[in-house]
Amino acid sequence: MKVVFPKDCIKYCIEGHPESPKRVELIYNALMDKVEFVDAKPAKKEDILLCHTEEHYNKVLNKDYFDWDTPVIEPYYPLLSAGSAIKAAEINGFSLSRPPGHHAGSDFLEGFCYFNNICIATKKLGKRTAILDLDVHHGNGTEDIVFGDEDILYVSIHQHPLYPGTGLKSEENCINFPLPPLTDEDLYLKTLKKALEHVVAFEPEVLAISLGFDTYIGDPLANFALKEESYEKIGKLVGDVVEEYNFNYFIVLEGGYSDKIGDLALKFFEGFVWSRK
Ligand SMILES: [Zn+2]
Repeated sequence: MKVVFPKDCIKYCIEGHPESPKRVELIYNALMDKVEFVDAKPAKKEDILLCHTEEHYNKVLNKDYFDWDTPVIEPYYPLLSAGSAIKAAEINGFSLSRPPGHHAGSDFLEGFCYFNNICIATKKLGKRTAILDLDVHHGNGTEDIVFGDEDILYVSIHQHPLYPGTGLKSEENCINFPLPPLTDEDLYLKTLKKALEHVVAFEPEVLAISLGFDTYIGDPLANFALKEESYEKIGKLVGDVVEEYNFNYFIVLEGGYSDKIGDLALKFFEGFVWSRK
């Protein structure tokens, strides 16, 4: 199991912001003895422009924006996080980086996201890809970018009502499973099986996973009721499909804001990789 970890991604910190370096550090510590770490380079302008308008690129580069949730940071970090996802897509790996990306649309940033890492990596790879979004929030940015693209399927399981308030119905290549607050493991796994049926029916070459750990019962930003052991079952279900259909895959870290995020990631990868050997 290869984990792309660009070390500089822990170097920026906005005081009091839930999207903190500690998230990545906790996952790094939990996986340290079990994986091989790989470095990454910042994405290039041409990579960003695969998914974003030039105007949006310039906004981030020139720090010319204001959003309550998405503070002004050095553009190096969003570029590095996009580069990390690109690397993960090349090596069937997990991009352990920040900032996350699935709320960034072609011409907007919000929800702690500047550039859409998973979309950039998907477009750069240029293969028929299903994007499975397991973050508790709907990936409105991802849907904005891939909507109508015949070579990409987007499938999301998310809480409703909750920020950003989108993803209530399925249209064209975007399949949405909004679930209520207090969704437990039983309902989640049933829904995940349905979501994976859509993935398989699409016959992709690549499965890309937007992996959020904010579906956890103790997450401060959402209200699902998944437990620590649920993540091993989720990892196993997804890993079984990857194995059976021989998909290439890559995984990109999105949200997850509890102190348990390291343990949750360890459980997910136990199910996804290590339980099947
Ligand atoms: Zn989230």
